[in-house]
Amino acid sequence: MIGLDDIRRVRLGHYTMPADSSLPNQKIIVLAYVIRHPEGLVLFDTGIGEDHEEAERRYHPIVRRPLREALSSLGVRLEDITAIVNCHFHLDHCGGNPLFPGTPIFAQEAEYEASHSLEYTLPHVVDFEGAKLELHAGEADVAPGLRIIPTPGHTPGHQSLLVETREGRVLIAGQAMNDAAEYGRAEFAGRIRRSGNEEAPEPPDRIDRIHELLPRRVFFAHDPAVWEPFAD
Ligand SMILES: [Zn+2]
Repeated sequence: MIGLDDIRRVRLGHYTMPADSSLPNQKIIVLAYVIRHPEGLVLFDTGIGEDHEEAERRYHPIVRRPLREALSSLGVRLEDITAIVNCHFHLDHCGGNPLFPGTPIFAQEAEYEASHSLEYTLPHVVDFEGAKLELHAGEADVAPGLRIIPTPGHTPGHQSLLVETREGRVLIAGQAMNDAAEYGRAEFAGRIRRSGNEEAPEPPDRIDRIHELLPRRVFFAHDPAVWEPFAD
């Protein structure tokens, strides 16, 4: 079984939130993850794609770090990647997919179906020549101990990646939640509800499923902060 150290984060750039958004002018980091597994190197998300005029305007400036360069900071070459997992098909998560013809790309069927009408994506990034999409409707194993878990909400087919490690379960949540603080509040509300002492609002199903898994660490696509549970 792999260890926590076999999950590595890598920064692939950032974009800037519009002045009229809930986070005016904030810089939003774009993170990807490399998992070293005995069956190969799995890459979770591939960075910010280009050529989407509205996105360029709305999220200006967008700063991209080339994937090849970013991976080399971990001692990994593009050619070493044996499988891709995209949390969803927005352009800031799958922009580098066309660099991987023939490499299996794990995604949800629902996301593929939605990708034709999704905002902020480009069909040729999802369906590029040589794309080898591995579409699933529900949970599925990418390799032993590496499982995709549907976490819809942000998009219809959003998914997270559960990684079993010697030190416990790690969830790479992508954009199931925007940040660790949002996740932490939802997780705490779940604890209150389960204790039965006090009413707490029902969470969205996707969050309940995540909490059932009892991850000991949760990573996000757009937050450098990491969530970990506290001992009662
Ligand atoms: Zn998105």
